[in-house]
Amino acid sequence: MTTAHDARPTTAPVPTQSTYQNRVADYWNTEENPVNLELGRIDDLYHHHYGIGEADRSVLDEADSALRRELVTAELHRLEHAQAELLAARLGPLAPSDRVFDAGCGRGGGSVVAHLRYGCHADGVTISAKQAEFAGEQARKRGIADKVRYHHRNMLDTGLPTGAYAASWNNESTMYVELDLLFAEHARLLRRGGRYVVITGCYNDTYGQASREVSLINAHYICDIHPRSAYFRALARNRLVPVHVEDLTEAALPYWELRSRAEHLVTGIEETFLSAYRNGSFQYLLIAADRV
Ligand code: SAH
Repeated sequence: MTTAHDARPTTAPVPTQSTYQNRVADYWNTEENPVNLELGRIDDLYHHHYGIGEADRSVLDEADSALRRELVTAELHRLEHAQAELLAARLGPLAPSDRVFDAGCGRGGGSVVAHLRYGCHADGVTISAKQAEFAGEQARKRGIADKVRYHHRNMLDTGLPTGAYAASWNNESTMYVELDLLFAEHARLLRRGGRYVVITGCYNDTYGQASREVSLINAHYICDIHPRSAYFRALARNRLVPVHVEDLTEAALPYWELRSRAEHLVTGIEETFLSAYRNGSFQYLLIAADRV
């Protein structure tokens, strides 16, 4: 006899999606930005988020242009990886038998980072079929496909087992969904005492409403950046109690300054991010919360 969970295929069709969610899926199914692919190729850890920490700006002084590009690419990847490690460090402590849930997993780097750190099982969910397939292939190549699995599903309605997860997170993927629906799904999946972590760009309530820059970022990525206040309200409504809050805005600037000078990697949104952070309308935030 099999249980309902064992019988469920990992490639279950994504539950009914809104037209908006179809557009988001289309975006990620066709996304091939060098800033995502070239950085990932360095060590097969594909991150689709931004970096944090001091940047080594001397890489820009390299006279040989091919070598300069290589050095800049590696430096940006190092900063993105540092961001992933910062998030992963907040998930623990975890045991190898624990399961973690990576909501909006992109090409899968975050789940691999968590697995390498804790030896845990990971389930990554993305609304992009192409990303789920890419990430699964990476896990197979690494020989960790038995512990790290990716699913083409909607993170608001994953079909994954209730209370089975010791930790879960969103790394730059909350701006695509309604927070109440998202946090209700995390609260369902997390066991009592489980840990939820989010890193996100949010607009700053003290500025007022969304600034011009925030609106441009929304248009660029087809997303809907929430105000900082919305996170705490929605967490509280869904039995998720913040235990650590960190404003990463300052730490995010060196990455964007370097990326804006990386002529082979720029996507055109760099100056907008820099102005948004500098004019105080936008913040880069980490929140860790406990499921009670
Ligand atoms: N967390 C990843 C990727 C961030 S990019 C990383 O840090 O590298 C945003 C991701 O959110 C994309 O993978 C996109 O497919 C996913 N996403 C957006 N809306 C989603 C939804 N409703 N369900 C599942 N994934 C979603």
